Amino acid sequence: DEILSTVKHEHDISDISFDTWIRPLEVYGVEGSTLYILVPSEQMTLSYISKKYYLPLKVTIAELTGTEYEIKFILPEQTKNIRTGNSGVPKKNALSEKADRSNLNPNYTFDTFVVGSNNRFAQSASLAVAESPGEAYNPLYIYGGPGLGKTHLMHSIGHFILERNPNAKVLYVTSEEFTNEVIESIRSGNASAMNKLREKYRTIDVLMVDDVQFIIGKESTQEEFFHTFNALHSAGKQIILTSDKPPKDMETLEDRIRSRFEWGLIADIGTPDYETRMAILRRKVEADDMKLSDEILNYIATNIKSNIRELEGALNKLLAYSNLEKTDITMEIAMKELQNIITPDKPREITPQLVIEVVTEHFNISLDQMISKNRSNEIARPRQIAMYLCKNMTDIPLDSIGQLLGGRDHSTIIHGIKKIADEYESNENTRNLIETIKKKINPN
Ligand code: ADP
Ligand code: MG
Repeated sequence: DEILSTVKHEHDISDISFDTWIRPLEVYGVEGSTLYILVPSEQMTLSYISKKYYLPLKVTIAELTGTEYEIKFILPEQTKNIRTGNSGVPKKNALSEKADRSNLNPNYTFDTFVVGSNNRFAQSASLAVAESPGEAYNPLYIYGGPGLGKTHLMHSIGHFILERNPNAKVLYVTSEEFTNEVIESIRSGNASAMNKLREKYRTIDVLMVDDVQFIIGKESTQEEFFHTFNALHSAGKQIILTSDKPPKDMETLEDRIRSRFEWGLIADIGTPDYETRMAILRRKVEADDMKLSDEILNYIATNIKSNIRELEGALNKLLAYSNLEKTDITMEIAMKELQNIITPDKPREITPQLVIEVVTEHFNISLDQMISKNRSNEIARPRQIAMYLCKNMTDIPLDSIGQLLGGRDHSTIIHGIKKIADEYESNENTRNLIETIKKKINPN
């Protein structure tokens, strides 16, 4: 499924073409360096697909598996001639699969984390925890403003632990995920749902809860979290938390929980200095194989100071431009393209795409999930929040919001916006959540 959806995205295949040709394809298996793709129809279809989609599939498969397979298309009647060792495609390595199950972003590792004076302490504390989980500092509590690398560091710890001990049970959850799960099992009203949830959280080795400020103030969730925390902590299991502020500044935090947060080590991440900003830009330029002059990097680093997500956003914008226009980026182009992000007296341009991207990132879901038909609460709620914020922060018409979010109709959009708007009025947590995401979208 991952191969297919990546092909669709990267090669911009229309829905109808995708449904007709690509969706029915299956990986039949791997034999030596050949990967067989099963085309469940007839010769004519096979010929067409192999002419038209051979290369996109080959490239994507190489990208996702890390192996340059020879691709062969086969019809169902040909399968008996092939003896494949296994029926699935091996992933890059077993670790990445493990990381998937832990909810970790593969790009967020210690290797890709640039250390500067603003984050050195948090980085070394994280590494210490990664080297001796449960022993060095427990819990580790990292706090700082948006876009400064808290989530990145947290995931780095998870990867590091899994790399050394693939059997470790590492779980990353956003506070929303945790909260939703607790609320869901309370609502279901049956004891076994609650037990299952407890079982899930109390049998892991490393629990990472991101943006823990959102758990605070929700009584039942706070209570459940408290018990989870105690159970894990007393069993010597590692707990890692992030937040936008230190425990002492979290007003609605119960004292007994506050004191637990302060048991271990508290590390803050501040805003990066110029050298660190340049180093982060250079790293990303290299990783993305971009060509940008030092003058341009300097221009970006001088003008974007307080948020690394924005630094990256500026580079992404230039990268997109250069891919689209098939041209190198000059200083002139950079200034023009980035003026909405950079020029201090002009407000930053807030596009619906930006809103959706930030919401997606905030809830740790993929864009595919955001625009999918999936209506489970973990996906549907971020989607409704995206609708609400598109309506409130941009002047895009409702129908276009529907289109951007996977072709949803007018009434669905109106319903989603109203639901969040009502909650915003009646529920303080929702209000905080919305305001936090708004700040991520528009820090000014
Ligand atoms: P936060 O969780 O604090 O809001 P993130 O961890 O999501 O911030 O970081 C935002 C973006 O900036 C991510 O893409 C992350 O990879 C990048 N980033 C943050 N800090 C660093 C760093 N020190 N080196 C490299 N990339 C960084
Ligand atoms: Mg984060």
